[in-house]
Amino acid sequence: MENSTSEDAAVDYEEYFADQISGLKKEGRYRVFADLERQAGNFPRANCYIDGEIREITVWCSNDYMGMGQQPEVLAAMHEAIDKCGAGAGGTRNISGTSHYHVLLEKEFAGLHQKEAALLFNSGWMANMTTLSTLGAMIPGMVFISDEKNHNSMIEGILHSRAEKKIFKHNDVDDLKSKLSHYDRDRPKIVAFESVYSMDGDIAPIEKILDIADERNAMTFLDEVHAVGMYGIHGGGVAERDGVMDRVTIIQGTMAKAFGVVGGYIAGSNAMCDFVRSYGSGFIFSSSIPPGVAAAALASVRYLKEHNELRERHQERAATLKRRFTEAGIPVLPSVSHIVPVLVGDAALCKQASDELMEKHNIYVQPINYPTVPRGAERLRFTPTPLHTDADMDHLLNSVLEVWGRIGLKAAA
Ligand SMILES: *Cc1c(COP(=O)(O)O)cnc(C)c1O
Repeated sequence: MENSTSEDAAVDYEEYFADQISGLKKEGRYRVFADLERQAGNFPRANCYIDGEIREITVWCSNDYMGMGQQPEVLAAMHEAIDKCGAGAGGTRNISGTSHYHVLLEKEFAGLHQKEAALLFNSGWMANMTTLSTLGAMIPGMVFISDEKNHNSMIEGILHSRAEKKIFKHNDVDDLKSKLSHYDRDRPKIVAFESVYSMDGDIAPIEKILDIADERNAMTFLDEVHAVGMYGIHGGGVAERDGVMDRVTIIQGTMAKAFGVVGGYIAGSNAMCDFVRSYGSGFIFSSSIPPGVAAAALASVRYLKEHNELRERHQERAATLKRRFTEAGIPVLPSVSHIVPVLVGDAALCKQASDELMEKHNIYVQPINYPTVPRGAERLRFTPTPLHTDADMDHLLNSVLEVWGRIGLKAAA
C-alpha cells in the first residue's frame, strides 16, 4: 500500500464507513449508548456518565424485567461459583468447558419446560441462529414457515440454513394455514414464532398455531425469550400459562432478560437436543458460558419458579402504568403483556423525547426506531418491573407529560 501512487477509483474504506454513518445521523437513527453503571441493591437506579459528570437516573427500559440481575440469591450463587471454579469456563463444551453447573442448568431448563432435555448456548441469539440453521440445513427438503415479526436471530438462522421459507402475516392463523397448505404433509416443515413480541407487547395465539401445525405435520419452534420467568405458574413462559408446553416441539429462551444474567437455550426431545449438540456449529465451536454465569442463572430460574408473587406484582405494575398513561392522554399502544410501548411516530422526535427525559428528568428510556420497528411507528418502550414504585411512576408521569407538552407530541386518539 505505501508504494501505491495511483489516485484512481480505489475504494477509500474510511470514507465509506463515515458516509454510511452520516446517513444514519441524517435520518435521526444513529444509535448512542447510555454509559451506565447499574446499582446493585438499588434497582432500578443507575449512575449515568454523561458529559463528564455522573448522574443518578432511573432505568425504565431494561430487559432485566424482574430485577434478578441484582437479586441477592443470584449474586451469592455467582460469587460462590467464582470462588470455587474461577472466572472462565476454560473451553468449548467438548474441550473442558462443561462444568457441573452447566449440567445442572440444562436439567433445570428441561424441567422448567417439561421436556426431556435442554441445551445451553452463549446467548439467545446464538440459540436461535444455531438451532434453526442446523435443522434447516440438515433435514432434507425442510421448509420454514416464519412469522413476519420474528426476531433477527431467527431470520438469520433461517437464511443461513438456505432452506426454503415462507413468511406468514403476524399472528394470523388463517394466513399460516394457507401458507402451510402449499406443502405436502410429508414435507419437513418448521413453524417458527414467538410468544411475546417485545416491541408491541402482543402475544401469539399459541394453541391455534399448534393445532394448525399438527394438522399439517409440522414441527414448532417457539421463542419465549420475553416470557420465560414472567408467565406460567413456574415461569415456564406463555406456553406454560396456556397449558400447551408439551405440544411445542422446541422451546427457546434466554438467561439474559427476566433471569437477569446472560446465555440462551433450547428445550425439547433428547434426540433433537443431541442432534443440535452434535451438528450445530454455534454450539460446537464457541467456548461455553463461565461456571459463575451458569450458577447465577440456575439460582435465578429456581428463585423465579418459586416466587409467583413476583410475576403477579410485575403484571400489576405494567397494568398500572398503562392505565395511568392512558388516563393522562399518553398514546399507549395496545399491549397485552408487561411491555408498555408509547407511540411517537417520528425518529427525530422520538430521540428528542428520550434525550429530554434523561437530561431534564433523569429518566432513561431508549428511543426505538427503524429497523427495530417500521418507519412511522417510532416509540418509547417502557418496561416497569416489580421494583418500580408508585413514587417512580408519579415522577415518570409528570416528566413524560412535561416533555410531551413542550415538544408537541401526539396525545392518545
Ligand atoms: C433478545 C432476543 C433474543 C436474543 O437473546 P439474547 O440472549 O439477548 O441473545 C432472541 N429472541 C428475541 C425475541 C429477543 O428479543
